[in-house]
Amino acid sequence: MSETINNLLIKEAALITGDGKTFVDKVNIGVHGKEIVYIGQEIPSGVTFAHIYEGKGKLVLPGVINIHAHGVIPGAPLFSSASPPLSDSQAKKNLLTHVSQGTTTILNVDGFAHPRLIFQASRACPINLKTAITHHAKAYLAAKNIDSSGLSGQGEEKVEKLVEHFPDIVVAIGEGGSGATLGGGVQDYKFIPEMVKRETGIAIDEYQARKLKEAVLGRKIALNCYDPERVENILKEIGLEDYSSEWALDKISQTVLPPYRVALEAVEEGAGLAKEYNLPFIAHTAASSMAKVEEIAWLGSLLVAGHCNHPSFDTEEGIALIKRLRKQGVIIDISTFNTLDSKEREKELAFFFAILEPGLVDVVSTNYGGGNHSPILKVLELAVEQKVITLPEAISLVTRNPSRAIPLLATGRGVIVRGAIADLVIVDRYRISRVEAVVIEGKPWRRK
Ligand SMILES: [Zn+2]
Repeated sequence: MSETINNLLIKEAALITGDGKTFVDKVNIGVHGKEIVYIGQEIPSGVTFAHIYEGKGKLVLPGVINIHAHGVIPGAPLFSSASPPLSDSQAKKNLLTHVSQGTTTILNVDGFAHPRLIFQASRACPINLKTAITHHAKAYLAAKNIDSSGLSGQGEEKVEKLVEHFPDIVVAIGEGGSGATLGGGVQDYKFIPEMVKRETGIAIDEYQARKLKEAVLGRKIALNCYDPERVENILKEIGLEDYSSEWALDKISQTVLPPYRVALEAVEEGAGLAKEYNLPFIAHTAASSMAKVEEIAWLGSLLVAGHCNHPSFDTEEGIALIKRLRKQGVIIDISTFNTLDSKEREKELAFFFAILEPGLVDVVSTNYGGGNHSPILKVLELAVEQKVITLPEAISLVTRNPSRAIPLLATGRGVIVRGAIADLVIVDRYRISRVEAVVIEGKPWRRK
């Protein structure tokens, strides 16, 4: 009888399968081709392995599936504002950063990316890469009301056509709205500071921009929140004492409001398309969009409420919203943002954990964090250390659960069982954020 040769054996490692419960202390995992072919206590006889990985002191997890990432596709316009793409090298760097942190599947939610770009990006990097799209009339209009320069004169595409032509790449509709069009984070770190710099020559940071914006329009973006006295005080505090509260009202309104109303209509239009094509809809969830997200909760499990721990929520309001959405079967996603390096780290972590602890979360993603997202496994490691959640549960939020939430995104991935695609992360057994190796479709990955 001729000998069978398999390509990889991970020997005597600990294993978390991704199902939310299973932890095996010591196991051997065999990989052949793209697949997991063996999981067991014995080393299979009659099989020779081309590569053997010593797993002592290591823990094997399914590759992380991240369903909310921006800025990872060379050439793709950013956000719902269709802002100019990052440089190709920056987008590639961002993508590789995700992989080096243990992510093997990404859903791009820069919805104006053409599926062709996703195809090209996935040829340059072995990661499983898919996209959500937002090529529909109201979404284009909202983008035009704030930026849209990233579209650079390309004709408008249609969801209908892209879904039909790229069924293996287009797996969701979205992101419906974003901080750029819905008065959120992208306004705070990009458009408002840019406007202030242009108008006054003074540089302000994202926290100062957010403060000013909220004094003018509130957290929920409404003109009746305008508080002249508070605005004056903030202007003084951030070095803009030469400017009046009326000036701030005027300028902030002109920056934030034009795309805002159309973006809410775009969310509704996107939800209708999601229903029509039976694809999940990724909705930007924040204080400014929460009413609209609730309105489309009739989508049930087709609705993924993205980054429900958005910093614009106060804790109680956010948790109450999540509970109402869950009652309708909506998928609850929370994001790591830039939490670990945020000036408001403790507050952001407390909110993240407050949602996680009572079991209100389905999926954890990164979002963008102004280009500096905190690694998923690092944030989950903290949650486990602080006994907010068990390790197997934490891992299922970034493996099995996202693969279920977006069915076409990660077929055959998300749990470690025989016959599954061998997307694996090997981490330090006692420190899951220490990624030792990443295996994608059976092949060890190396950062070039
Ligand atoms: Zn968003």
